[in-house]
Amino acid sequence: MLNRVLDYARAHRDEYLKDLLEYLAIPSVSAQPDHARDVKMAALWLSEHLRDAGLRAEVMATAGHPVVYAEWSGHDHHRPTVLIYGHYDVQPAEPFELWHSEPFRPVVRDGYIYARGADDNKGQHLAHVKAVVSYLRAEGTLPVNVKFLIEGEEEIGSPNLSAFIAAHRELLACDCVMISDGALFSPTQPVLTYGLRGLAGFEVQVHCLDRDVHSGHYGGNVQNPAFALAQVLSSLKDAQGRVTVPGFYDDVRVLSAEERAVLARVPYGEADVMRETGASQAFGEPEFTVNERKGARPTLEVNGMWSGYTGPGSKTIIPATAHAKITCRLVPNQDAEKVINLVQDAMRAAAPAGAEVTFSDARGTPASLVSLDAPEIQAAARAAAATYGNPPFYELEGGSIPVVHDFQTLLGKPIALLGFGLPDDNIHSPNERFAVACYEKGIEASIRFMAEL
Ligand SMILES: [Zn+2]
Repeated sequence: MLNRVLDYARAHRDEYLKDLLEYLAIPSVSAQPDHARDVKMAALWLSEHLRDAGLRAEVMATAGHPVVYAEWSGHDHHRPTVLIYGHYDVQPAEPFELWHSEPFRPVVRDGYIYARGADDNKGQHLAHVKAVVSYLRAEGTLPVNVKFLIEGEEEIGSPNLSAFIAAHRELLACDCVMISDGALFSPTQPVLTYGLRGLAGFEVQVHCLDRDVHSGHYGGNVQNPAFALAQVLSSLKDAQGRVTVPGFYDDVRVLSAEERAVLARVPYGEADVMRETGASQAFGEPEFTVNERKGARPTLEVNGMWSGYTGPGSKTIIPATAHAKITCRLVPNQDAEKVINLVQDAMRAAAPAGAEVTFSDARGTPASLVSLDAPEIQAAARAAAATYGNPPFYELEGGSIPVVHDFQTLLGKPIALLGFGLPDDNIHSPNERFAVACYEKGIEASIRFMAEL
């Protein structure tokens, strides 16, 4: 059955490509009110496409842009059910003048499909749809039950998705979730992401004076809040980049030798960080590798700071206040509220005399971690190995995808994060692209994943 379905997909590659180009021509920019109709059009296009393929599909309202939901289930209730998540909305295409072809007139050039949304995320989730189409047309059945949840607000932070998942837990019940919204390491090297960092952040204000005052009249007799803030911030880290806040690392998972070996397989190191960022040297906890620091260690960073006069020329004042925005990337087992409290306590304790430290805008989302031993993850690994010719790298992602945490807490099932794009596909940038070969391999990987499952 597997080979017949793969053959069917290969024989229909031109048709599958044509459908993706049609889908990409709909400018479903979720951030721009002018495109609200187009966003709806994309949802309708996708739901009709799923219905034509033989699934039960509907466009479901949320407080914002709608969700496309579809399902197919056979008569055998022992089959596992996979929930496939994706998003049909896209980033704004501006600045238009930097595109070599129009963002919503998709073209194929040198083996790449150029269009906004080609990689992120229409091409990637349509690959899963085409895998299902191939099964149903070639065999009239699927080896698993399939559900699709394709949202229209990912690019604006999924403001209504948690509530949607919470309200439809029964509808979305499944044995595992598959998300393809990322990249391969290279065209022949797949990656399974098994963890994502969380985020905790707040703003700090240091207050010393009623108002900005004359630096001649009062200099030498009052505390300067910019200095006080600098003192407070520098107390949070040592010279090698370790966070010195008491208790900060208490809940951090200790990496086993086995997991360190898994992470060490990924050929990404200090030279890559320097090349990608322009940094003259890598900087971080010396006892951990770049891959370990990226996903398995928490961070504490200053995202912005301001105080006093920053316009042209000079203004001889002592500023009244100083401010900074702080965020921590969290790793599994850390609690956002606890981390925020620890950091704020340390900052209060480090404040010099005459400086009042206050905080605002605290918020957080926890990290997620998937067990590599879950049979569904192993099925995804075998499917990826057979499709791309190499067993996947396992990576911890440094960034955060809040929806992954929602899926984990609300559905409680393993989540396979297997990207079909390439790192240089220009997502969110001008000239976004998706290799035709990546689309076809994505379809193949999805077909194999369902068979393995
Ligand atoms: Zn995106």
